[in-house]
Amino acid sequence: MTAMPRKKKAVTKGSPAERPETVAQLRREFLAAVGKLWPVAGGSLSWRKNSCVREQCAACASGAGHPGYGLWGRRGAQRFGLYVPAELAPELAQALENGRALQQLVLAMGVRYTRARPRGVALGRVAAQGGPGTGG
Ligand SMILES: [Zn+2]
Repeated sequence: MTAMPRKKKAVTKGSPAERPETVAQLRREFLAAVGKLWPVAGGSLSWRKNSCVREQCAACASGAGHPGYGLWGRRGAQRFGLYVPAELAPELAQALENGRALQQLVLAMGVRYTRARPRGVALGRVAAQGGPGTGG
């Protein structure tokens, strides 16, 4: 067994502060990061008690129903919800986490891309306004 240090080796040599990253570097980094964010999903995973259409179902009669996971979300104005098998739930939970990480990645990349562009000029602090809510 070899002890693997957790720290990643710095890719850039010299002082990174003086050498701004290039758009090409950013693109490579983004694509590599996206490759690790699979599977990906949006929406929310929740546990629900479902009832069935069978008559005299012992599970439904007892109030236990048929609990199961569901994936819920919105695509534009359209809502969706679908049944998720229990064995798939952990994977889907990870996919949702990846989806959130992807959003953060995209946000960060937009900032870095703008700075990396040759004509990109930092505007300094922009007065923070009450941004638009993400809904929900
Ligand atoms: Zn039932």
